[in-house]
Amino acid sequence: MHTFLPIAYFENQFVPFENAKLSIATHALHYGTAAFGGMRGIPDPENPKQILLFRLDRHCQRLSQSAKFLNYELSSEKLQQIIIDFVKKNKPSQSFYIRPLVYSSGLGIAPRLHNIEKNFFVYGLEMGDYLSPDGISCRISSWTRQEDRSFPLRGKISAAYITSALAKTEAVESGFDEAILMNSQGKVCEATGMNIFIIRNGTLITPGFEQDILEGITRDSVLTLAKNFGIPTIERPIDKSELFIADEVFLCGTAAKIAPVKQIETFKLSAHRPITEKLKDKLFAITENKDPDYRDWVYTVAVE
Ligand code: PMP
Repeated sequence: MHTFLPIAYFENQFVPFENAKLSIATHALHYGTAAFGGMRGIPDPENPKQILLFRLDRHCQRLSQSAKFLNYELSSEKLQQIIIDFVKKNKPSQSFYIRPLVYSSGLGIAPRLHNIEKNFFVYGLEMGDYLSPDGISCRISSWTRQEDRSFPLRGKISAAYITSALAKTEAVESGFDEAILMNSQGKVCEATGMNIFIIRNGTLITPGFEQDILEGITRDSVLTLAKNFGIPTIERPIDKSELFIADEVFLCGTAAKIAPVKQIETFKLSAHRPITEKLKDKLFAITENKDPDYRDWVYTVAVE
């Protein structure tokens, strides 16, 4: 059961969440012509009159870029202002997740992006841990991540998530927590809603953008943190077999934060994960605005 935040932004105004309803003929529902974002916020543990949003600017920028694939111009600045107002109106008292979504809102038949109305909405829900922070089990999916030549993977396009949904259900119904997808080249790509990192001999390794991954904002944060810690990092293709012999493996994303992997298929990974733990603790402290070096990653919204 989800606890939704009481106010949503819908059809250019703030309305009670229950009143934000779409027609069954909405184009996006039929063709997946939508793109979404997902960001996290928390009430400031040091100041009850403030809400902290992690990397608000980057999330708005990515959604604005995704909107371009829908033939829709939506500025990052406009999105940012609406999200700030959304947070002020809701005044969340628990850790929460914001879901903005841009979509073909016209009532149209036939897939197209021209000559059809677009709009966007924002809603939110309370969200604690998405995956166990103590270690998850992963299956290698029988589904392959789409490739950029047939799908705009630099956007976070709703239609792409049928593959994630199939992979997640396949994994969970066969007794695992999460799925790891390969790309069309047979290299490790990402999980259903998270990027992947492995650690071998003290080096942090993750697939590069050319591997058909989503441009994850947590991934970007982790790479920056590792560089600042002096941990060597490489962005390169990862073979499936490397997963099984890695010293540490973790998944990362807005909802999951940093989720250590304890098992992949039948291979057990070590419970000793010094680098994963170091990065996880640092990221956590930053989201709580406890690290002065990364204050520019945390946007503060004043609420009455
Ligand atoms: N890959 C996919 C497919 C995702 O849906 C997400 C979640 N947005 C990520 C990776 C991680 O991205 P981020 O860190 O920006 O949440």
